[in-house]
Amino acid sequence: MISVDFGIQAVLISLPKYAARIGLLVVFLLVTSCGRDDARVQQFTGSAMGTFYSLKVVDLPAGLSSEALVADIDRLLGEVDALMSTYRNDSELSRFNAGGSTDWFPVSSETAKVVNKALEVSRYTDGAFDITVGPLVNLWGFGPNLREDRIPSDQEIVELMAHVGYRHVSTRDEPPALRKSLPGIYVDLSAIAKGYAVDKVADHLDSLGIANYMVEVGGELRLKGKNAQDGPWRIAIEQPTSQNRSIHSILEVQDKAVATSGDYRNYFEANGTRFSHTIDPRTGRPIDHRLASVTVIADSAMHADAMATALLVIGDEVGYQLAQRQRLAAFFISKSQTGFIARGTSAFEKYLASEQ
Ligand code: FAD
Repeated sequence: MISVDFGIQAVLISLPKYAARIGLLVVFLLVTSCGRDDARVQQFTGSAMGTFYSLKVVDLPAGLSSEALVADIDRLLGEVDALMSTYRNDSELSRFNAGGSTDWFPVSSETAKVVNKALEVSRYTDGAFDITVGPLVNLWGFGPNLREDRIPSDQEIVELMAHVGYRHVSTRDEPPALRKSLPGIYVDLSAIAKGYAVDKVADHLDSLGIANYMVEVGGELRLKGKNAQDGPWRIAIEQPTSQNRSIHSILEVQDKAVATSGDYRNYFEANGTRFSHTIDPRTGRPIDHRLASVTVIADSAMHADAMATALLVIGDEVGYQLAQRQRLAAFFISKSQTGFIARGTSAFEKYLASEQ
């Protein structure tokens, strides 16, 4: 019997009030089978980076303790937080952002790697993905400061747009460093660093010889091996609606990463309009089109995470063409007059479960 595990949602309901403000995008409901195989499964959950993580392991190798595993995950996610958070002033990224110098700023190889990847995605999405939108994210109330649910003035937007542009950021590998060519540049890695964190945890699980796992941080996933029924991992994409949590489609995935970005969890409404946390760098404003969510399947969670945001900015027509050209597995759910319409790229089709 197939059942839907709402464990993650249960955790969300017990959240403190501030968590509702950040509008956690946990878009995947885990689809599991009940039965005698459950004895093979161990599940761990915790919080990190302003969101939640969960790990499911099938057949934890003998000799590995669950306590040590949880301690490892907390440490690894804590490391990413200390490097790449804009929610704490003492992180490496916040110190780079606070500095007005246009000289090289030494950083860890991890931060340089994530920023490098972000710039790569910016280049082939023609700037739709842009980590320098941070000041606009904050202006619209989706950053670390308390949200005011206020529509900024045109002048405020234009002023901050002068400090946006991924071409103003450079990276160096040896020794690792970042550089801004404008003193006001502020980098926000919220659309890519969770994916990186998932990859970091997955690499660690691989190094421990864990063959079957599902790791998820705030809705970005990596799936390895098989589930407890010796089949591919079954995960569900949510209906992109804030009213309730229901399943749109079920995927079967093995040895891949999956990420979704959407406009339906983190937003505010004013004057009858919804303003989402995904900013179009070309306008300085939240996206304003019918595309409601994009799911991307890729080898790395970092790539899937960034591409899901990029395609959400680009929209369902041009984004679909871009994903097709790149042979990217991507699934677009758009609002229609009657509900939602969805389409996946050719590379995506094989992941849709035959039994929905
Ligand atoms: P995604 O679609 O993955 O990303 C959307 C986010 O990307 C936006 O919120 C914005 O920040 C940014 N963005 C918007 N438009 C663009 C664009 N065009 N190009 C690139 N980026 C864009 N939240 C807290 O409330 N408290 C915390 O302590 C906290 N700590 C964090 C620490 C780290 C290291 C990271 C990476 C994030 C942290 N967050 C924190 C943020 C939070 O957990 C999520 O990352 C955030 O809510 C966005 O994730 P998402 O999956 O909802 O959206």
